[in-house]
Amino acid sequence: MSTEKLETLEFQSETKKLLDIVIHSLYTEKDIFLRELISNAADALEKMRHQSLSDEEVFDKDVSLDINISFDEKEHTITITDTGVGMSKEELIANLGTIAHSGSKTFLTELNQTEQKDVNLIGQFGVGFYAAFMVAKQVRVQSRSYRLDDEGHEWISDGTGTYSIAPNPGLHRGTKLIIELNDNSKEYANEESIKRIIKQYSSFVPFPIKVAGEKINTVQALWTRNKNEIKDEEYTDFYKFVGNAFDEPQYKLHFAADAPLSIKSLLFVPKENFERMGFGRMDPGVNLYCQKILIEQHSEKILPDWLRFLKGVIDSEDLPLNISRQALQDNALVIKINQVVTKKFLKYLHEEAKTDPEKYMQFYETFGMFLKEGATSDYTHREAIAKLLRFESSKSEPGKKISLSEYVERMKEEQKEIYYINGPNRKTIESGPYLDTFKAQDIEIIYTMDPIDDFVFSHLAEFDSKKLVSADRADLDIPKDKESEEKKDALEQPIVQTLTKWMKEVLGDRVKEVSESKRLVGSPAIIVNPDGFMTSTMERIMQAQSQDMPTPGGKNLEINTSHPLIKGLVDMRLKDEDFAKNVVQQVLDNALIQAGLIVDPREMVERNYKILEKAVNK
Ligand code: ADP
Ligand code: MG
Repeated sequence: MSTEKLETLEFQSETKKLLDIVIHSLYTEKDIFLRELISNAADALEKMRHQSLSDEEVFDKDVSLDINISFDEKEHTITITDTGVGMSKEELIANLGTIAHSGSKTFLTELNQTEQKDVNLIGQFGVGFYAAFMVAKQVRVQSRSYRLDDEGHEWISDGTGTYSIAPNPGLHRGTKLIIELNDNSKEYANEESIKRIIKQYSSFVPFPIKVAGEKINTVQALWTRNKNEIKDEEYTDFYKFVGNAFDEPQYKLHFAADAPLSIKSLLFVPKENFERMGFGRMDPGVNLYCQKILIEQHSEKILPDWLRFLKGVIDSEDLPLNISRQALQDNALVIKINQVVTKKFLKYLHEEAKTDPEKYMQFYETFGMFLKEGATSDYTHREAIAKLLRFESSKSEPGKKISLSEYVERMKEEQKEIYYINGPNRKTIESGPYLDTFKAQDIEIIYTMDPIDDFVFSHLAEFDSKKLVSADRADLDIPKDKESEEKKDALEQPIVQTLTKWMKEVLGDRVKEVSESKRLVGSPAIIVNPDGFMTSTMERIMQAQSQDMPTPGGKNLEINTSHPLIKGLVDMRLKDEDFAKNVVQQVLDNALIQAGLIVDPREMVERNYKILEKAVNK
């Protein structure tokens, strides 16, 4: 029999300090103590599985590999038992009494020098076991190694300065952790809370976790399995589980990468977009795991905000498990994973759009708003996102959308820019003045019928090295290969000069400039934007958000000097200047309306009646 007896040892001094930090500042959520201990048990079981493959002679060879959790509500204890590799006396001392990791000293000296504790650094340390002391008055670890010559020991500590260690014969292989809960944590000795924590954090641990004999973790970590061996129903079931969903996913992306980072990921696009249906802003739906153990549910940082509609799992064993939520925020690894997965997902969508365009359009109609949000907010991926956008155009069939790449393919040889114009619908756009010149020159123009589209295009600025230009820009200069007939019976230049000067006087601050248009064919006048950055639609949205009466100043009015209405103004001005002024104001209002801008209806209607009155009494 062993001659050993109880020994009391001191924690290594670094350990003492670390314990203090861990207990008081690293973990803010006490729940995760159980996650850490289960993760250690799972590690020990994994090592055991490995051992039994190589080692012939192990203790308790036929014991099944599992984790058992029991509790005592009266005594306020929780006991976690595993049949893993266990620990010898030396291992108990080395693993639980010291910090084996190199660099821990440097870390602690650094920590002492700075006032602010760098949680980021702490996160790099494997200190999960100490999380037990967040909830424990005392922790007892009874362990027996798988090696035949070990006899079992008990390690006891209250986590302050010392621990004791003594022989404990008669143990089975593995480790039993008995936690005597402290006064603030007694609620953990309860079946419901234990089950809840296991389901939340440890659902995918690859060994059975039993509470009162019942296996709690019944869902498989599908993302770690080989794609080819997974059935569609399994994917759907898994999607329903992680996404808390009732529908079926419309897309799924399952991939694994080894370099530069080890990532296993399984992402789903749901069928429904609840945000679009008016249910308010969605929370992110992808959970972050490290080797099947949950690090963060609905992680905010693992994917960009605009991908919040995705459901699923990202698992990376490169991530430290013991990382606080705060440290996750600016963890370089998290940023890297975010970029890799986002890129991968965009590429996947691109391929889907090619192989099954119809299905892609279904997705686009439902979730396109998120892509547009990405295009305006995610600088890194904006080019890839731009390829996924779809719009109607003057050359698309009504109701059918094209990609910017298709537009570029069809561009005329001498055409250097991509043109677009916003309007509430196809009919309005096609009957408005902006299309005049495009129709005349047979140049394709994109219809951006969603108000956000103009913001998207102004953020993108270009596509495939071609500038995106709104057709309501003052300096629009489209290639003209057909010399149009617009100049045929236009007003003479001196008359044009006087007319535009007078019109500007009449309109005053309502416009910046009145000039002769080079682009109009059938319409008398058009509103254009001299600054070229804001489109009229963008301006309208800004206007709608501020309470002030609309004052669309800073715009130019271009007039068509071959149009009978404009030409008629020259004479009318001499005959009845007041009436001519009314017409000029009305021309501007009409042009503003066609630009989608808001005009004061009261004034306009009054003036309109005056004009009509004159017309009927002619
Ligand atoms: P980490 O898990 O990151 O190594 P921990 O503080 O969680 O850090 O655990 C420290 C060490 O204690 C582990 O590496 C392992 O060697 C040992 N250990 C903890 N729990 C067990 C267990 N249930 N069975 C066997 N060894 C364990
Ligand atoms: Mg651990």
